[in-house]
Amino acid sequence: MNINAIKGKLQNEGYKLTTQRRAILNVMIDNSEEHLSPEEVYNIVKKEYPDLGIATVYRTLQLFEKLNIICKLNFDDGCSRYELSTDSEGHHHHHLICLSCGKVIEVKLDLLEALEEEIEKEGQFTIVDHNVKFYGHCSECKNKSL
Ligand SMILES: [Zn+2]
Ligand SMILES: [Zn+2]
Ligand SMILES: [Zn+2]
Repeated sequence: MNINAIKGKLQNEGYKLTTQRRAILNVMIDNSEEHLSPEEVYNIVKKEYPDLGIATVYRTLQLFEKLNIICKLNFDDGCSRYELSTDSEGHHHHHLICLSCGKVIEVKLDLLEALEEEIEKEGQFTIVDHNVKFYGHCSECKNKSL
């Protein structure tokens, strides 16, 4: 999703892309590989916009989430984290979570559509999405423990 698409989305819902929203959005775009918590977004954004308060960051992230510009993730580390939505229809990637260092790695590999089809064949349920986290040890931590 590019900045114009996001701008359009905000406008459709009656929101302006204000300087503050733009600043927070830029942080999300610049760190699209990361999964930032509101505190982390705040720490980055305040370097350039020292007047911007953390409450604004929270509010803005909630707004972006409501508009499906970003999505909320839970890695069981005690805070909410966010990443940009791929696109309106797009499938989210899955996450590998290292139990030793807490690093989150993204996996594009996805064989779960086939599983969804199999489940739907049973006729009891229509699946619209799935969300998978894999827990284990990253290569760095694995090497350290050897
Ligand atoms: Zn690790
Ligand atoms: Zn991710
Ligand atoms: Zn998937």
